[in-house]
Amino acid sequence: MKRPIITDIRATTVTVPLEAPLRHSNGAHWGRFVRTIVEVETDVGIIGLGEMGGGGESAEAAFAALKSYLVGHDPFELEQLRFKICNPTASLYNNRTQMHAAIEFACIDIIGKFLGIPAYDIIGGKMRDEVGFASYLFFRLPNKDTGAGEVRTADQLIEQALSLKKTHGFTAHKLKGGVFPPGYELEVYRELAKAVGTDSVRYDPNAAFTVEEAVRFAKGIEDLNNDYFEDPTWGLNGMRRVRENTHMPLATNTVVVNFEQLATNILSPSCDVILLDTTFWGGIRACVKAAAVCETFQLGIAVHSSGELGIQLATMLHLGAVLPNLVFTADAHYHQLVDDIIIGGPMKYMGGKIAVPTGPGLGVEIDREKLGTYADLFKTLGGYLYDRDPSRPGWFSTVPNTRWANPDDVSADGILA
Ligand SMILES: [Mg+2]
Repeated sequence: MKRPIITDIRATTVTVPLEAPLRHSNGAHWGRFVRTIVEVETDVGIIGLGEMGGGGESAEAAFAALKSYLVGHDPFELEQLRFKICNPTASLYNNRTQMHAAIEFACIDIIGKFLGIPAYDIIGGKMRDEVGFASYLFFRLPNKDTGAGEVRTADQLIEQALSLKKTHGFTAHKLKGGVFPPGYELEVYRELAKAVGTDSVRYDPNAAFTVEEAVRFAKGIEDLNNDYFEDPTWGLNGMRRVRENTHMPLATNTVVVNFEQLATNILSPSCDVILLDTTFWGGIRACVKAAAVCETFQLGIAVHSSGELGIQLATMLHLGAVLPNLVFTADAHYHQLVDDIIIGGPMKYMGGKIAVPTGPGLGVEIDREKLGTYADLFKTLGGYLYDRDPSRPGWFSTVPNTRWANPDDVSADGILA
């Protein structure tokens, strides 16, 4: 049987609206996600799908520039692909890890479609049929068109959590913090934990705290049903100092995102739970390999979300399906979106879980009409500044952050993204 060979690559930037702008310690998602959808074509008629974020910007031009590297490549040759695109020393100049991830997704999709098997059967075979998710709650600015959706107070946050729990069945809740002063967020988080009863909670201020603030915050929440405390401060050394001063497991998606850092974290532990991101780590297979190292050294793992539409979500589901040591629920921004670009519309949560796609490859296909609609929306709205908050002109993030948003300031309502 003739093996497929890559003949072309196409990239389309889309913008899909969020219910409301999502705030985080470094800025915000301004009421929408910008994602670049990648299609890798082959000489056997199979098209593989990939997806990448890019901090609010299009990555189309960068993918177009990869064409000469990819044409003629056999998609089965995944290890060769890694060195062709991001040899670790060559990558000092072009840093293509995330782009490699999107191409790897597409190659795995091609292999699966060619063999007629789902992606999980290519990367180890599934341990479970569905992957559990946490609710992923954000402080939000109001939707600019409807004025609805603001989350600033404890009452608004609890309303968001209970509504998502009712609709999707979540039993774990993650609060993205680092927006308002730590003392305020501590109170709000405690209120949230009380409101969700026996459900577990997790808090992630995106590394905005000093070590001292992180330890103070940890002591203030240690009595709650925490899964873990995620990236309270930045750097392996900072995390190590926090870890020495709390009983809670620390999780990270920022300071252990490659094998060098994973090795350092094993030799001198700073983090207990490694949040595996199929984009940040450079592909699904890198995450599977990292999970095996974590299994060996008995570090915890979970599946991380750096923002996703259905193609990226499929990579997270196939990853989550095959990991024997996956104990914690995954994160997804997915339920904050109003639509998707895959056929059949957004995937559904049932009992807080999403079923792993069982079709060939990643098991999702592009809805061409929606792709066109949301490509047009990107052309209309353009990118956004992921690392700026549209309600705080002139502000930019620092580590440690000392300039918090004011939780009493409702003037933000007038400056909408
Ligand atoms: Mg995080």
